Amino acid sequence: MAKNKANIDEKTLAELKKALTEKKAKITAQLETFAGKSKDLKGDFDTRFEQIGDRPEENASEVEMYENNLGVEHQLEKDLAAINEALVKMESGAYGICANCGKSQTIDINRLKAFPEAKTCIKCHCHCGCGK
Ligand SMILES: [Zn+2]
Repeated sequence: MAKNKANIDEKTLAELKKALTEKKAKITAQLETFAGKSKDLKGDFDTRFEQIGDRPEENASEVEMYENNLGVEHQLEKDLAAINEALVKMESGAYGICANCGKSQTIDINRLKAFPEAKTCIKCHCHCGCGK
């Protein structure tokens, strides 16, 4: 593993990596309960749409469920992408560096422990829920 630019000690880094890997497995399992892995895009999931009957009213609840699942799917995919990105950054040594305010600024270790896939420091973190 490349030297971590954020100067996180190896033990902590290993713990964070474990947390990320576990989170990834959990999210993947969750996605697989209602979505099939997309054939077109690696790492992408497609929510399955199961039709019960032929009449639209028979499918009303199915449509609703499908739409709910789509929302959940997108959120989980976003989480998964953030986790994968964090794992890649761990390999390159860029993990823990704020993606917004630059190379010199590191993300607070307590923030990383609570939210290991964090891309930005607490100052840059957007609270609108966009995941930045
Ligand atoms: Zn920042």
